[in-house]
Amino acid sequence: MKMKAKKLLIIYTGGTIGMMHSHRSKTLVPFDFGAITDQIPELNHLNCKIDYFAFKSPIDSSNVQPSFWVELAMVIEKKYNQYDGFVVLHGTDTMAYTASALSFMLENLSKPVIFTGSQLPLGAIRTDAKRNLITTIQLAASDTVIPEVCIYFSSQLFRGNRSEKYTSSKFDAFESYNYPILAETGVHIVVNTDVIRKKSTGKLLVHKKLDANIALIKIYPGINVEVIDSTLKTKNLKALVLETFGSGNAPTDKKFIGVLQQAIKRGVMIVNVSQCGGGAVEQGKYETSIHLKEIGVISGGDITTEAALAKLMFLFGQNLKALEVRKLFQKDLRGEMSKVI
Ligand code: ASP
Repeated sequence: MKMKAKKLLIIYTGGTIGMMHSHRSKTLVPFDFGAITDQIPELNHLNCKIDYFAFKSPIDSSNVQPSFWVELAMVIEKKYNQYDGFVVLHGTDTMAYTASALSFMLENLSKPVIFTGSQLPLGAIRTDAKRNLITTIQLAASDTVIPEVCIYFSSQLFRGNRSEKYTSSKFDAFESYNYPILAETGVHIVVNTDVIRKKSTGKLLVHKKLDANIALIKIYPGINVEVIDSTLKTKNLKALVLETFGSGNAPTDKKFIGVLQQAIKRGVMIVNVSQCGGGAVEQGKYETSIHLKEIGVISGGDITTEAALAKLMFLFGQNLKALEVRKLFQKDLRGEMSKVI
């Protein structure tokens, strides 16, 4: 029996994928997205019905702000019942942040929301844009429904809140170090059904409140404790993501630990996330992480920095009590983390 053609919405937000070389300015500028099928006529031959929605002012994703995430989530919310899936064209620079944020904002997702972009603009001869876009459409229209916020790039489909942009020069720009690939596309498209999330039966809930009073510090040998202290004293700061070494290790220096401890006493939540892409934070494995545990630093387990920031913005945006945020942060909400050790 022939399946009914799926209906997809392609949302264009900006990024390299939608840019062309301007002969006048010699820089990359967004092209008229209305003419996408002139650029990729193959889109007319896919077995699905595609509609397009372009943001009024396409942006380089380095300009993404939480308000943009809200705008994007609202587009999906408004069109949710009309489509079987959504393809979001987005710059690669902050794609992992946006995909992470959307994964928390879109609760009870039962349809695919797949982000893609490209390293070379659509008009470039060796562009990766065409293949990325066409395959993303095929994945979003797949009979095996992938009810997640994902990123498709090169030949792999990743869980959005598990992915990181790891290279700005290779075509396979993304990695998911701590979670298996959801689908792989070569000659055949193989969806790894065992690792994709279960379709939610609940009604889609779109959370639009985010609190960006969060900070991020990557520690390094020689880091100035006063910089950490003043960051932690930022007005209204709710939480700090501390990027530590290896499995969650940091200096044992009294001044450093003291500054963190005082902040925790003032009510600032501190989350320990590793600088390593792969592996997890295990507070207490080494002497250099036991102090963090003792003063109340929360382990981020194997969460990515991008997902940790997005999760904190989402949780603090819900007007929850600090204790509740603490509890929920350590819980896997959207497949973003494995069990915290
Ligand atoms: N700067 C661009 C962006 O993130 C890079 C890209 O799209 O790959 O919007």
